[in-house]
Amino acid sequence: MTLSPKTLSYDELRALDARHVWHPFTQAGTAKPPILALGGRGATIYAADGREYLDLVSSWWCNLHGHGNPAIAQAIADQAMRLEQVIFADFTHEPAARLAARVTRRLPGDLDRVFYSDDGSTAVEVSLKLAHQYWRNKGQHRDVYVAFEGGYHGDTAGAMSAGHSSGYFEQWREMLFPVKTVPFPATWDDDPEVEAKEAAALDALDLVFACHPDHVSAVIVEPLIQGAAGMRMCRPEFLRALELKVREAGSLLIFDEVMTGFSRTGDLFACVKAGVTPDLICLSKGLTGGFLPLSMTVAREAIFQEFLGQDLSRAFLHGHSYTANPLGCAAGLASLDLLEAAECQSRIQAIEALHRARLDRLKSRPNVARTRLCGTIAAMDISGGGVGYAAEVGPKLKAAFLERGLLLRPLGNVLYLLPPYCTTEAELNRAWDAVEDVLATL
Ligand SMILES: *Cc1c(COP(=O)(O)O)cnc(C)c1O
Repeated sequence: MTLSPKTLSYDELRALDARHVWHPFTQAGTAKPPILALGGRGATIYAADGREYLDLVSSWWCNLHGHGNPAIAQAIADQAMRLEQVIFADFTHEPAARLAARVTRRLPGDLDRVFYSDDGSTAVEVSLKLAHQYWRNKGQHRDVYVAFEGGYHGDTAGAMSAGHSSGYFEQWREMLFPVKTVPFPATWDDDPEVEAKEAAALDALDLVFACHPDHVSAVIVEPLIQGAAGMRMCRPEFLRALELKVREAGSLLIFDEVMTGFSRTGDLFACVKAGVTPDLICLSKGLTGGFLPLSMTVAREAIFQEFLGQDLSRAFLHGHSYTANPLGCAAGLASLDLLEAAECQSRIQAIEALHRARLDRLKSRPNVARTRLCGTIAAMDISGGGVGYAAEVGPKLKAAFLERGLLLRPLGNVLYLLPPYCTTEAELNRAWDAVEDVLATL
């Protein structure tokens, strides 16, 4: 096949993909051919078959302001004409310095130091490696890590170790290092057991600290919402109690805000909403508004100080080829401008209010349980088709929604809506109408 993209038909493009591309989280032996996306505007994706899809998963939780946002596109184009990329050891550049200052200004306490990397997984790897070396630099041997049951932190080896209880990584068990897990007090609307679950989780944590005195390096948690585990939510009260326990034990607290960051929970960051100051915070998905891969691990200044010295051995010898890519940083600045505008903040509140009203209407349905809401994320369990990630109801729902022009990807039997903030009231109501429709036919 000759490669002249301008003259290739859609069928030829599909054939090239089928022959040469390996898609993520996909069994190519049984999967339907992928949808060929041609473009996007706002919350809508336009496909080669003439169909339109409302992107209610924000393209894997990354997109904030819609597809093809002209302000972000322009910022990237302008930056590309100035400086597309430069080595980030011995060099710095304007977008990296400004973005680090703007993000840290909105974070609590002395969360003032930004280490840039490429995606959520690397942001988490960096946080785990920083915690490890921090204790070594202080002359302490703390090598026990604690994570929450069901937690997901990415697909690289350290992130898989922290997320081993998610069930996604059985294939690679031998590659992982041991991480202790404690229960996550997942809760939902009108949950009478929430306090008992929180107490049990804190007791389990006490036990780990008691068994490994002065040896727990860090506790890592997805604050307020465990995403991939099925949009499992916890209360801010629990995170404040968790912070106290970690402080008492003299350990470090890592917030994996890869998904919750940038107003997903209603506040700019989950740590702000919860009133907690973690030691390290991982940010990625929404950082560039969904345009480019970029991430940051933000550390408290006190942690950075432990890496200072006169020789390389105390320094953090870690980095990536595209660390702090200027195009990504420029996109991040443009996205923050949009996000901080009053108009966007009121859209976020409107989405939450609309979610609330529509969730309440669904509560009484026999196949809907555990409705829950946090900021722009609404979720519920669907019964009658199995539970867990492999529940057969998931693919069935996905197909039914695609048929109706909605991009929704249930996590097993958990159906959730996580729309871009530009989604209009009419679009969101159309989505919820379709949800009611499809659930009625199950
Ligand atoms: C998606 C996600 C990650 C991994 O991010 P990638 O960019 O896919 O590597 C890590 N933590 C959380 C909470 C996530 O949702």
